[in-house]
Amino acid sequence: MSFKSLGLSEALLKAIQKKGYTTPSPIQQKAIPPVLLGVDVLASAQTGTGKTAGFTLPLLHLLSENPKAKYRPIRALILTPTRELAAQVYANVREYSEFLNIRSAVIFGGVNQKPQAATIRQGVDVLVATPGRLLDLESQGLLSLKRVEIFVLDEADRMLDMGFLRDIERVMKLMPEKRQNLMFSATFSKDIKKLANGILNQPVQVEA
Ligand code: AMP
Repeated sequence: MSFKSLGLSEALLKAIQKKGYTTPSPIQQKAIPPVLLGVDVLASAQTGTGKTAGFTLPLLHLLSENPKAKYRPIRALILTPTRELAAQVYANVREYSEFLNIRSAVIFGGVNQKPQAATIRQGVDVLVATPGRLLDLESQGLLSLKRVEIFVLDEADRMLDMGFLRDIERVMKLMPEKRQNLMFSATFSKDIKKLANGILNQPVQVEA
């Protein structure tokens, strides 16, 4: 199994090669094909399995494949529970999109919102965010989620542990109903399954 055989574009293969990856990890082998097909995916994956590339690579492929509006609305939203994870996921998005015409940004709380709002105003295709700051900027009219095509909920179990259920529900109401949803979680409690039922439409289930 190679990254090329998964159907990823040349620009992404170049970025993957630059990272030094030779073989897709098990979660990448299982998650990338259904994401590329455009269906919803529920993935069971721990940190360290390569899950970030598992959703980032096909997401970037889909966005760069389809034409985009000139003013660059937010087309993909990646929600993470902590600022550390948001920064880490954003670093991955940046690296994998090096050879693509894709702009990305990260927003999280605890820092001045002005530079974040200014970046978003210039147009970003992919936004990585923690729930609080995302809702904060949206309620001020500083960003819109009305054009989101792909929604990723990363580390869903930690999201619930940190009490973000209501925030996630609020975020979902701000996006179009017709979109692709990807949910990653290390554990699968009753609450996680309930959350998955509320977010995902007939998901393909994959496990690392
Ligand atoms: P993650 O589980 O997404 O946090 O990734 C864990 C680590 O594995 C990160 O340092 C990645 O850069 C690395 N990684 C991801 N995919 C691969 C791969 N296919 N081959 C080698 N390393 C990888």
